[in-house]
Amino acid sequence: MSTVNLTNEDNDNDSEYMQTGDMDMMYISTSSQQTELPGGAEQQTMRVYLRVRPFSKEELSDKEDQDCVGIENSQTVTLNAPKGSANMKSSEKGIGMSLHKFSFSQIFGPEMMQSEIFEATVKSQTSDFLDGKNALLFSYGVTNAGKTYTIQGTPKQPGILPRVLDATFQYIGGHLYDGMDLKPYLRNDAQYLDPDQVKQEKSAKAAIFASVKEECEPLRSSGLESCSALTSNPTEADSSQFALWVAFFEIYNECVYDLLQVSLCSKSKKRSSLRVCDDGAGNCYVKDLRWINVLTLAEASKVLQFGNKNRSAAATKLNHSSSRSHSIFTIKLLKIDDSTVTRISEFSLCDLAGSERCNKTKTFGERLKEAGNINNSLLILGKCLTALRNNQTEGMKNSYIPFRESKLTKLFQAVFCGKGRASMIVNINQCASTYDETLHVMKFSAVAKQVVQVIPDKTLKSLAPCLVGRDGKPLVKNGVMDTQALESFLSEEELLDEEDEANMSLATENELANMIESLRTKLLAERKRNLVQEMEIRNEMGDAMLQQLMESEELRSRQIEELKESFEEKLENTFEIYKDAIREHAYQSARNNLEDDYVPFDEFIAEQDKVETLKRKVSELEGLTSSIGGLCAVPTVDQSCQTHPYKSTEAAEKCAIDSICEDKQQLIICLEKRLKDINVRLQNTTDGYLEKSSELDDLQRKSKDQTESMEEILWQNVQNDREIASLKSELAKLSQNSPMLLRPKRGLLANIRDAVTSPRKTSTTRTKRKTAHP
Ligand code: ADP
Ligand code: MG
Repeated sequence: MSTVNLTNEDNDNDSEYMQTGDMDMMYISTSSQQTELPGGAEQQTMRVYLRVRPFSKEELSDKEDQDCVGIENSQTVTLNAPKGSANMKSSEKGIGMSLHKFSFSQIFGPEMMQSEIFEATVKSQTSDFLDGKNALLFSYGVTNAGKTYTIQGTPKQPGILPRVLDATFQYIGGHLYDGMDLKPYLRNDAQYLDPDQVKQEKSAKAAIFASVKEECEPLRSSGLESCSALTSNPTEADSSQFALWVAFFEIYNECVYDLLQVSLCSKSKKRSSLRVCDDGAGNCYVKDLRWINVLTLAEASKVLQFGNKNRSAAATKLNHSSSRSHSIFTIKLLKIDDSTVTRISEFSLCDLAGSERCNKTKTFGERLKEAGNINNSLLILGKCLTALRNNQTEGMKNSYIPFRESKLTKLFQAVFCGKGRASMIVNINQCASTYDETLHVMKFSAVAKQVVQVIPDKTLKSLAPCLVGRDGKPLVKNGVMDTQALESFLSEEELLDEEDEANMSLATENELANMIESLRTKLLAERKRNLVQEMEIRNEMGDAMLQQLMESEELRSRQIEELKESFEEKLENTFEIYKDAIREHAYQSARNNLEDDYVPFDEFIAEQDKVETLKRKVSELEGLTSSIGGLCAVPTVDQSCQTHPYKSTEAAEKCAIDSICEDKQQLIICLEKRLKDINVRLQNTTDGYLEKSSELDDLQRKSKDQTESMEEILWQNVQNDREIASLKSELAKLSQNSPMLLRPKRGLLANIRDAVTSPRKTSTTRTKRKTAHP
């Protein structure tokens, strides 16, 4: 028996080891930890909740209930591998355990109501949100585990999202700002809209509402029992007002799509993806994302419904399941004092893509295509959480956190870095058939639960919304946008596209050399990282391909084996039939013979009597003749009687034999025909077998070719690196010799400028192609 404890806490008050029979067990746990930091900030492990979905009727009738999930108490759950699961198989081989124990911030059993979930999970985050802090909620789990049910719910059982919206509207009460002219801008800022822009906003909103049917409003407040007060409402005397804006988008295959674009619904148009940009302060936002100002819960629910419709329409059109995309609903609350936005907070609810690692029902090609991207965001989210956790461990500090490697983590990086609080609801089902995936989900959440977040006590002054240019000049002054300042504010990323006119000759030779050196190091580091990543991806792909090949090979040999068995069986059956037929025939002929020879007993006695009398007569006659002495022998009646029947019996026998012969002849012909048929089928099977074998050979050859080409690409990569290095050194030499003559290419200059962090004055020659006005 081996017991592994992955607890990385000193505080072991909730660690206990369970030992059941000779089962092996693994305990993965961290207890919730809360520490006060100087300055009022708070440090807390990420809250990770578990929700166990009830069985559906179908699952119960499919015997999915095998006691795989055991909720021990409100924080501990045990997973018990069912027979046939990969986990059980490997534990039988001595690899890993068959019993796992996990702890969560709180566990909700199948009987838990939606309102209870809301109260226990995001109620405090909602209060924070209304208080001006940012909040983020993930729902994580495999497809069909209840993620969407938890976030959105049903009309009768509204989920967390409608409850957060309801609580927000309750909080706002009579302090709603319905001017619609103060709109979220970039990530943390707001922008003032002129009357024309307000008109546009209104028509965009009307277009959305027009395409949502009135009668099937999903989240009427009727389904919501009134929440208990979250945060004290703004007092009547308080002149603050609030505006609520919502956005709804999805990330599919590392592309961001707006779910509130009206044109999306039209069949012909291809939907365009949106860019994720940096606002210059390290906060990422979705550029050109549509924000809708909602005034009531009913309006918000219509927006949600519209987005859902768009999402499933897009999924159907592109023939993928919506479970493969992450859908994110973001609510922004703008606090407005004297027509100026004084505070912005954001609550994002993120319904993650199904976490299943490989969908076995798909074809190989489809799976390969998706494997590259589909779960990239999930993979990177996992990597970020692991790195965040590792950074907390002494000796592993400062490990690289790959936030920038996926759209999802890029967008929520700020939350993980102290600008808000994130929590996660892990959804699982209790089905035996998906046990291995469920176990994977639990291991992922065990990591998430160990991530410590720093939560600022109060909304920091620096977080207050304000459009600030690089020169420190606010862009919005009394609701008016300073366009000149805005120009200078445009992020480097946007400027990269423009023709570079900067005069590099201002830099000294030394500065240039340093710059190039630092760029070179950066480039090398980047290349190294890319190479490692590429290798990893290739390895993963290679593994997946190999496994697929092995699977198909196994399948094929199993099919051939099955085919062989079935033919053998058929052959045996046919032989049995022949045997039976021959036996039957023999029996019939024996019976026929018996019938031919059969004489009834009475007749036989009568006949014998006759013979006796005739014999007697003969002896009498003999006596008479000898006494008479007359010698004329006349043929007796007896003789004539005897010869005649003898002749007729002989003919009948011959006749019967003939017919038997004929029957047998026919049987033989029939047997020969069937034998021929079997031979033909056997030949066909052999042909099929040979064909399958040659296909298999082909597949093997292809896989070999692909491995070779992969190696070749890697080799070329190395070559390219070498070439770049040599070019670099030449460039360095050139720049040392004559920096004045150097006119590097636009891309490099842009890179160099990217590295130079010192603010520069807005060049008058810069084109004003890009403007922040929507
Ligand atoms: P996911 O979004 O993870 O793919 P869904 O939320 O669509 O899963 O849930 C799958 C099915 O299970 C839905 O029909 C949903 O109504 C039902 N379901 C999920 N969780 C619960 C629950 N806690 N109680 C009752 N039904 C649930
Ligand atoms: Mg779902």
